[in-house]
Amino acid sequence: MNAPAPKISFVSLGCPKALVDSERILTHLRAEGYELARKHDGADVVIVNTCGFLDSAKVESLQAIGDAMAENGRVIVTGCMGAQPDEIREKYPNLLAVTGPQAYESVVAAVHEAVPPAHDPFLDLVPPQGVKLTPRHYAYLKISEGCNNRCTFCIIPQLRGDLVSRPAADVLREAEKLVKAGVKELLVVSQDTSAYGIDTRYATSPWRDREVRARFYDLAKELGELGAWVRLHYVYPYPHVDEVIPLMAEGKVLPYLDMPLQHASPTVLKRMRRPGNQEKMLERIRSWRTTCPDLAIRSTFIVGFPGETEEEFEELLTWLKEAKLERVGCFQYEPVRGAPANAVAEAVPDEVKAERQRRFMETQQAVSLKLQKAKVGKRLPVIIDAAGPTVAKGRSKYDAPEIDGNVHVAFRRPVRVGDIVTVKIESADAYDLHGVAV
Ligand code: SF4
Repeated sequence: MNAPAPKISFVSLGCPKALVDSERILTHLRAEGYELARKHDGADVVIVNTCGFLDSAKVESLQAIGDAMAENGRVIVTGCMGAQPDEIREKYPNLLAVTGPQAYESVVAAVHEAVPPAHDPFLDLVPPQGVKLTPRHYAYLKISEGCNNRCTFCIIPQLRGDLVSRPAADVLREAEKLVKAGVKELLVVSQDTSAYGIDTRYATSPWRDREVRARFYDLAKELGELGAWVRLHYVYPYPHVDEVIPLMAEGKVLPYLDMPLQHASPTVLKRMRRPGNQEKMLERIRSWRTTCPDLAIRSTFIVGFPGETEEEFEELLTWLKEAKLERVGCFQYEPVRGAPANAVAEAVPDEVKAERQRRFMETQQAVSLKLQKAKVGKRLPVIIDAAGPTVAKGRSKYDAPEIDGNVHVAFRRPVRVGDIVTVKIESADAYDLHGVAV
């Protein structure tokens, strides 16, 4: 008789990119016969995939490590915070191992040392599309690692290195497998999606009967042929982004752009050293909307960046009112240790940051509410994320999972998770829509 399979408990913190790393580690371990445990208690080892981007994320990561130590005691730490092992070891000296981001092999080696695999890996079946932590109907697709930009508030390039793009054919093969396994929505992620392929000089690779370039437009077009919703995240406004908008108008990829702009004042953007050409953003957004009238833009902004004056902040508010972005997040600047931004100008006092964030959100809520109300009466395709006996929760094309709003759907005929149903929208608030399946 086989020995029982060793059990791993896994905590995945941070952004969608970290989630993709977690999925890769788990796919590897599952292939070797490890099983996933539901709780720390009783697992043979716990892996905590940490996020160390902001101080608040570090606190959350340290808390998760502390919980794992208390409930189990055999803990391996990986992920972004693992790039600063001393800080973690100081607090938790008895960890089994600490490895940095993208260090799949070191994590797997640490697991082998802590609890060797019990099975013959050939007997252990992993679904061919790998192990996914997201529900079966949507999946994150990571197209590159690292980043060539040097935004002054960010330490990701220090943690993850320069841009390394995957060959287009590799990405497409993974996407095809996911779609064959039932995935209905592919969420394209990276640190800088529109820079895809710059490091390989847009190298081609063989896909089906043709050569495909590792280039943002070419990849988006090919992904659009696979029959799933394709959603583009972390797209910076390089000039060639304009080429992708017609694909959205044709329905090949979703009319959705997740474009973290961070600010609108040219002087703040300069201090941030942001990539892309943000000077004429309003004009460009207008022209994108002419090409694709139902384009939804999601963005995030930082208020209280060092040296931000009241005038610069007002510039941002005015811009926001004119741009009328569908979905917006706003963060107060947090001084990340090691980020050059802390030295570019004087810090903005905490109470000013909080007040600016409040004013920003008030301004945006009025914009969002108006845009949301304009959807009342329309019939929208909605992908179902969760279904009860008479009501379900899903998302329109304009909403990404976890970060955007939901559509609450009443229905008569049963719907299942992953179905895409047409919903007549009956009411709206600033975040969510409510309607009936027709
Ligand atoms: S684009 Fe800027 S914020 Fe984004 S990962 Fe690169 S350096 Fe960081």
